[in-house]
Amino acid sequence: MQRISNYINGELVEPISGAYLENFEPATGKVYSLTPDSDERDVEIAVEAAKRAFPAWASKSPEDRFEILMRIADLIKRDLDFLAEAESIDNGKPKSLAKQVDIPRAVANFRFYATAAIHFGSESYETVGQAINYTLRQPIGVVGCISPWNLPLYLFTWKIAPALAAGNCVVAKPSEITPMTAYLLSKICIEAGLPAGVLNVVHGLGSKIGAAIVKHPQIRAISFTGGTKTGAWIASQAAPMFKKLSLELGGKNPSIVFADCNYEQALQTNIRSSFTNQGEICLCSSRIFIEKPIYERFRDDFVQLARNLKIGDPLNDSTQIGAIVSKQHMEKILSYVVLAQEEGGRILTGGKRFILEGRCEEGYFVEPTVIEGLTFDCRTNQEEIFGPVVTLQPFTDEEEVLHYANSVEYGLSATVWTENLSRAHRVAHKLESGVIWVNSWLLRDLRTPFGGMKNSGIGREGGFEALRFFTEEKNVCLKIN
Ligand code: NAD
Repeated sequence: MQRISNYINGELVEPISGAYLENFEPATGKVYSLTPDSDERDVEIAVEAAKRAFPAWASKSPEDRFEILMRIADLIKRDLDFLAEAESIDNGKPKSLAKQVDIPRAVANFRFYATAAIHFGSESYETVGQAINYTLRQPIGVVGCISPWNLPLYLFTWKIAPALAAGNCVVAKPSEITPMTAYLLSKICIEAGLPAGVLNVVHGLGSKIGAAIVKHPQIRAISFTGGTKTGAWIASQAAPMFKKLSLELGGKNPSIVFADCNYEQALQTNIRSSFTNQGEICLCSSRIFIEKPIYERFRDDFVQLARNLKIGDPLNDSTQIGAIVSKQHMEKILSYVVLAQEEGGRILTGGKRFILEGRCEEGYFVEPTVIEGLTFDCRTNQEEIFGPVVTLQPFTDEEEVLHYANSVEYGLSATVWTENLSRAHRVAHKLESGVIWVNSWLLRDLRTPFGGMKNSGIGREGGFEALRFFTEEKNVCLKIN
């Protein structure tokens, strides 16, 4: 059985303990590889390697770092098919999706930050007649990057690329549930000639090595994407140590459909925003609010389209809905369907585990599920489910729907559907979300600030924001006379 290795000090190595965790293929329910069960000792040698590598990496010019990061991007692109299949097997997502979205985005992340580092600048202020102030933005040193399982290589590289481009050395931890593509990236980094110790990838449990990274006194900044509870714990540990912290956390995203929308676009895109990646994207819509005059029509058409989605082996090109990432997560999703019914919800379609025949008969598949009849403030409509489950609710006017949309503790993303430009601006202005799409969804420009408000996190990724996060600012004041 294939064994994944840690990548420390430029080499692929076993965990010091010699212990491994079973890694499941969600589509079959079977163990197909082994992940290092690393501990604090592995983190320690990774930090030491990163510290040793830092002076040389930090003093390279952005142009030199650009060369290496672009080579990594090119190699990811060369291996696109292979990486897409690996991601699909590891996560359960359709291979076609990994090929169109996950892996191309990993390429784009490296390219974007390789070039961004060259364009990155800083301000200067003239205190007229007295002084010139200028700001230096210097790499921090050793930084920690911790990522989740839903978009494994996509989100892993979204952190690593800016950290490296800004001149830091990294100790990174992918999710133990989806370690494969981070391991394959380690091999690519070796091939690309990334100097030893600049990037270190340590595999294992969050409670062990994630916590060790967070608590390590030499790791001065943590960039984390994952659940809100984990984020709160990390914040509690990092705050007394005054670490820089970027937290991208959970969501419960509203989609607001006004009667004057472009109906067909709204319908089709809401299907995508609800069920892409089995609903396991932090930006997926989970509460769809529909203005009353079109409620019944939209509901019936939406349910019909949801029923038609093809659930299947993620490796088949025709599959639209793959497997849920783990048995435990599948059970969590199904428990919310039970809760929704207890809270008075009507299941319009789905609601059950889906059993396939053949290779995938023991896979973790859940039918796309649509629920109506719930109040905006019930648990089903307040808590993150993170699966192919959406609720539909009618509304009368803007004020009412904004109250519903903003009633949750989260504030990650929101989608607004209307052809009325003034209304689009008005509603976007009042929504409590860090990312708002009008008449679209997941239309991404990597230059824009990305992240959530409220319990969806602190800080923003993307664009120069990420380079600012991964650098320490220093003001130099020069008296003129
Ligand atoms: P999680 O919080 O369980 O795990 C995320 C990562 O943190 C994993 O690598 C895990 O091993 C590690 N971890 C766990 N406990 C830790 C600890 N005590 N200290 C340090 N690290 C620890 O989240 P998950 O289940 O992997 O991911 C799903 C969650 O991620 C959802 O809530 C989803 O909304 C969120 N998410 C948010 C965004 C965003 O951009 N805001 C993007 C994707 C996913």
